[in-house]
Formats: sequence, structure tokens, C-alpha cells
Amino acid sequence: MQAQTLDGRTVDLTPEILAGLKGRLKGPILTPDDAGYEDSRTVWNAMIDRRPALVVRCLGSADVIACVQFARSHNLLLCIKGGGHNIAGLATADGALMLDLSLMRGVWVDPRARVAHAQAGCLLGDVDRETQLHGLAAVLGFVSATGITGLTLGGGFGYLTRRWGWTTDTVLGIDLVTAEGRLVRASADEHPDLFWALCGGGGNFGVVTGIDYALHPVGPEVVGGLVAWPASEAPRVLELYRTLAASAPPELTLVTLMRPAPPAPWLPKEMHGKPIVAILACHTGTLEEGEKAVAPIKAFGSPVGDVLVRRPYAQLQSLLDGTQPKGRRYYWKSEYLPGVPPALCAKVMDHAAKIRSPHSAVILFQVEGALNRRKDEDAAVGNRDARFVLNIGGSWEQAADDAANVAWARDAWSDMRSFSTGGTYLNFLTADDGPERTEAALGKSLERLAKVKTQWDPGNFFRTNRNIAPG
Ligand SMILES: Cc1cc2nc3c(=O)[nH]c(=O)nc-3n(C[C@H](O)[C@H](O)[C@H](O)COP(=O)(O)OP(=O)(O)OC[C@H]3O[C@@H](n4cnc5c(N)ncnc54)[C@H](O)[C@@H]3O)c2cc1C
Repeated sequence: MQAQTLDGRTVDLTPEILAGLKGRLKGPILTPDDAGYEDSRTVWNAMIDRRPALVVRCLGSADVIACVQFARSHNLLLCIKGGGHNIAGLATADGALMLDLSLMRGVWVDPRARVAHAQAGCLLGDVDRETQLHGLAAVLGFVSATGITGLTLGGGFGYLTRRWGWTTDTVLGIDLVTAEGRLVRASADEHPDLFWALCGGGGNFGVVTGIDYALHPVGPEVVGGLVAWPASEAPRVLELYRTLAASAPPELTLVTLMRPAPPAPWLPKEMHGKPIVAILACHTGTLEEGEKAVAPIKAFGSPVGDVLVRRPYAQLQSLLDGTQPKGRRYYWKSEYLPGVPPALCAKVMDHAAKIRSPHSAVILFQVEGALNRRKDEDAAVGNRDARFVLNIGGSWEQAADDAANVAWARDAWSDMRSFSTGGTYLNFLTADDGPERTEAALGKSLERLAKVKTQWDPGNFFRTNRNIAPG
């Protein structure tokens, strides 16, 4: 079997060499002929079609160490797959040794200390499921099938960000296998520079095997969900969004989106495929306060659908899952925003009207609050001036439609980027985003990240991510 080396050559991994690796592992090895290889090698975004030489489905840190040492001794390119949700497909690389961590999904909760230890292959839903048994939650994202590790290493935001900050602001410690094949723990007290870098600097510094999250009391029931109106109501609904967001308490997170209506049971059949505007809300205070806070949304105009109700927090966390299936084609453009002025809202409406696919959307997420109160230098994630996130989300099914949908997203982005803080979310960068976009995402942190890289990975062994060269 031919595999890719770090210096761009290929190397023959003979059956004897593979048997040597197998003898050191508890988890299975998958080659392209094995059942399961296809599932491991494919990622959420069908635009990405790469074929690692072999996949190891690790069962724990010892397997990860064995793989890192094996890759080092044969000079192999290594890639790491968590949830496989990265839109740029950073989890997979042609000819590489892929570490697929999807069998490492244990979660241990200490309800008294309010800490969860999660293995690195967990999806968001795995953590919510265990923490919600105790009425606790970690600050994670909006779609339950997303991997915790990719999300956390890039920063992370969701319904709880307004109260407690970026996901990385709530991380207490990270277990990591280094480029030397050593298991270390990074936290505020242990290897603090490495910990700082892991909190937003991407997967540049090692293979994460577990993450400790601080938990907060949330739910188990919250007031959350969506209200939708025909797109003709968008001028008034976006103004409502602006007004409510400006005075919303931190317990309330508001998202607004414009898209063709999906064929969801809560929307009337005659609306399916027609353009809508919606507000997605989540209130994590008391249920009474929550109902009061969302009342102006529910009472506004004549909605075509309303599922903004009391519901389990874990259910809210998976409400959007069906709209983001693995295997479609996706292309996003994104910016952090200091606010949502009327001129931006006008452009949101303009570009939503030009959407080329039934699955695409223009979305504004509110994130302002706790993250703005910390210093830029607290963690590599930075971007402490972000108050909203704009995501222009192209999503379609056929390769023949790539050009039209990519062009739509790029046009909308170039027309709206002047509203940006100048920063962008590392985890939303696409495969064609170059180093200047990584710079926009990591800004002032880049220089220090390069120094940490020099210390922990001087040979740039971990390079199939948004790469930061040693410096
Ligand atoms: C449908 C959808 C919804 C999303 N919603 C949100 C959201 O609400 N909030 C938010 O903040 N983000 C969100 N994201 C973005 C998400 O944070 C990124 O896509 C993230 O990269 C996903 O992590 P993953 O583990 O699934 O990705 P993967 O594709 O598996 O990995 C992403 C990167 O992390 C690296 N990596 C993964 N595991 C490890 C590890 N154990 N050690 C070292 N490096 C590792 C990979 O090598 C790769 O470079 C969303 C993405 C999608 C597709």
C-alpha cells in the first residue's frame, strides 16, 4: 500500500509494516478494501473527496500514541477526524494515515464539581445527553452531530455563548498527544502556553484525546425554537430582530435567517420551497421569564409556523440537525459583525432573494455578552469585538450546481464584508480560503501561536489543519 510522506513522496507500507502497527493497537485498521473505510474517509461536506491510505479507529490515548509514533517513524502524513464536520474537510487528506476518533465517545460528568470530561471523538449530542441528566450543560454549538474537538479547537459558539463566552472560555483542561508521541495535559496551570494555543488555534499542536468542560445549570427545559413568516415580512421581522437583540438579556440568544422554507412538518405544505424569514430563539433562564422574553416574537404579525415553546434543552440542540445532513454539497462565507445595522439587513434580504438552492440560507447569530468582557490575549481565539456572526450558507445536491451556488455565496459575501469587524470564524473557513483568511480569524494571536508551534511541533508534523508554521 502506498502512503504519502511529509516531504511529498510516497512510501510502500508492506503487509509486514502494517502488521507491526496492528500489533500495537486495540482499535481496528481500515484499508480502502475494508467495510467501514468509506464511512470513515467521507466527511460532512460532499465537496470534499479525499482518500487516506489507511484509517485507524483509535480506542484511546494509547492507540493515538502508537499511531503518532508509527507515522513519525515512517515520515507519514497524518490527519485527524473528530466529527468530520469541518466544511473545508480538514479531517481528511489523500494518502494520509487518518486517525478516526469516532469510537472515543465516552463522557464522564462530576455534577458536584460541575465538570464534564469528554473523549475527543464525542459529538455535541453525546455531551448534552450526559450533562443534561444533571440539569447541566457545556457551551457547545447548534447542531448535535458536530464534533466537540474541532469546534472547541476553533473557538466554538452556541446558545450559551452570550452567558459564558466562546466554548474555549469554558474549557478547563485538554489531554493531548504531542508530535513526540507523549501524552500531556494542558490547562491554566500545566503548560499554560500550549493551553492558550489550543483554545482557538486549531488542531496544530497535537492529537487531543479528551477535554474537560466547565458546566453550567441549564434546563432541562428551556424556551426555544423557531417562528417563521413569509419573506415579504422580512423588513419588519429583521427590524424586530434588531430591536429585540439590542435589549435581550444574556439568557436570551436570538438568531435570524432567511431561506426557502424546508419541508418541515411545522410549516404548511403550500409554503415549502417558498422564501421565509425566521427567528430562532433560546432562553435559558426560568421558563416564565423565557415565555415573557419571546412573547413579542410569537405575537408579531402573522407567522406561517411557530414552534417556539417550552422544550428539553437537548431537543433544542438537535432542532436544526435535519437541515444539515452529511453528504450534501456545502460552501460558506462568514464574518464577525460588530452589530446588525439596517443597511446590512437590506443586503441580507437582497441576497436571500437570489438564493440558488432550496437548502441555502443567510443567517445572523447573536454572540455578544460574556465573550466581549474578556481580553483578547486570554486565549488564541481572540475576536473579543464580535457581537454577531454572519453566515452565508450555500447548500445543494448536485456537483453540476457547484459553480452557481459558490458564486451566489461569494457575491453575497463580497457585498456584505464591509460590515465585518475584520475578523472571521476559523471553523467556518472553506477549502478555498487562503492564509489571509486564517490571519483574519486568528489576528493578533498568530505570532504567539507560531512560537508555541515551534516549541511543541518544530517539524510541523501536524499540518493538515489551518496550518500555522513554526516561527
Ligand atoms: C452543520 C454544522 C453546524 C455547525 N454549527 C456550529 C456552531 O453552532 N458553533 C460552532 O462554533 N461551530 C459550528 N460549526 C463549525 C464546527 O465547529 C467546525 O466544523 C468544526 O471543525 C467541527 O469539528 P469536527 O470535530 O466535527 O470536525 P473535523 O472535520 O473532524 O475536524 C476539524 C479540524 O479539527 C481537527 N481535529 C478534530 N479532532 C481532533 C483531535 N482530536 N485532535 C486534534 N485535532 C482534531 C481536525 O484534524 C481538523 O483540522 C458547525 C459545522 C457544521 C457542519
